[in-house]
Amino acid sequence: MILAAARSPRMARLVETAPLSRDVVNRFVAGNGTEDALRVTRQLADEGLRVSLDHLGEDTVTPEQAQGVVDQYCGLLRALHASGIAPSAEVSLKLSALGQRFDEKLALDHATAICTTAHDVGTTVTLDMEDHATTDSTLEVLGRLRTDFPSVGVALQAYLRRTEGDCRELATSGSRVRLCKGAYAEPETVAYSSRVDVDKSYVRCLNILMSGQGYPMVATHDPRLVAIAGDRAKWFDRSPDEFEFQMLYGVRPEEQRRLVQLGYTVRVYVPYGTEWYGYLMRRLAERPANIAFFLRALRSRT
Ligand SMILES: Cc1cc2nc3c(=O)[nH]c(=O)nc-3n(C[C@H](O)[C@H](O)[C@H](O)COP(=O)(O)OP(=O)(O)OC[C@H]3O[C@@H](n4cnc5c(N)ncnc54)[C@H](O)[C@@H]3O)c2cc1C
Repeated sequence: MILAAARSPRMARLVETAPLSRDVVNRFVAGNGTEDALRVTRQLADEGLRVSLDHLGEDTVTPEQAQGVVDQYCGLLRALHASGIAPSAEVSLKLSALGQRFDEKLALDHATAICTTAHDVGTTVTLDMEDHATTDSTLEVLGRLRTDFPSVGVALQAYLRRTEGDCRELATSGSRVRLCKGAYAEPETVAYSSRVDVDKSYVRCLNILMSGQGYPMVATHDPRLVAIAGDRAKWFDRSPDEFEFQMLYGVRPEEQRRLVQLGYTVRVYVPYGTEWYGYLMRRLAERPANIAFFLRALRSRT
């Protein structure tokens, strides 16, 4: 129900204009602007964490909006460089924010511009994965970007039945692959629906990535999967610089620090920007306790 609400413009207007405490948003989002993104990156980097910055916004509908997203990312990358923190931070991109849904070529050109700036300032880009209707297009764009920028990464979603095959294709030398469970409402025909099936698929995908030649990015907060990933890394003789854990800003922060202390590389996915609605709804859908937190904050303001 919450994931359906995440796609409803009416619901978006309702929540965005509700007198909800900014605390709820602040828990998961760095703030509205580039300065907020830099501040949080600096704080996390000081604690030994790496960062992937996501400028919030998806499903862009006009070329002008898409150009605005490019300008935002390029400005952010230059600001990271000027602040000396570019080596600790990459950026995450949603191709739908770059116009993928109405012009794939435009999205590719825009992603190329962002990858060029990232390369110039000494960092890189990872493509987020959105709903299953965009998977082929995103992998196609990834292939093209990697011709000039081999370090561009991509997210794969363990809940999709196709993902084991995609992991096999992408477990090649230098290939950065972020494995996550998947956050969109998908039909049974393309995705596993039970938690246990998604978790089993995650482990099968993890085995492929960890035993392959690429650079696995293990994006989960699930304690069992974190432990299994640590085991597999030992089993396949991967040192801590040959894979990384990734978690979301505001989710299990103590665990993020614990893993750093154990010597692992940990990257925190940090969203920022004003268009936080879809992102927040997906985080609420993941955990009933977050909904209670959200409702408590709403009630305390009404
Ligand atoms: C770095 C990163 C990048 C991602 N990129 C994408 C992407 O490109 N495309 C995509 O579809 N999805 C993406 N996701 C989201 C992902 O698909 C899952 O929806 C999300 O990570 C929850 O799954 P989980 O593996 O943590 O396991 P779950 O089974 O959902 O959670 C395991 C445990 O983690 C804790 N937890 C999980 N989520 C929350 C939360 N929101 N708040 C508080 N505690 C929580 C709880 O203790 C829970 O019991 C990304 C996730 C991460 C960490």
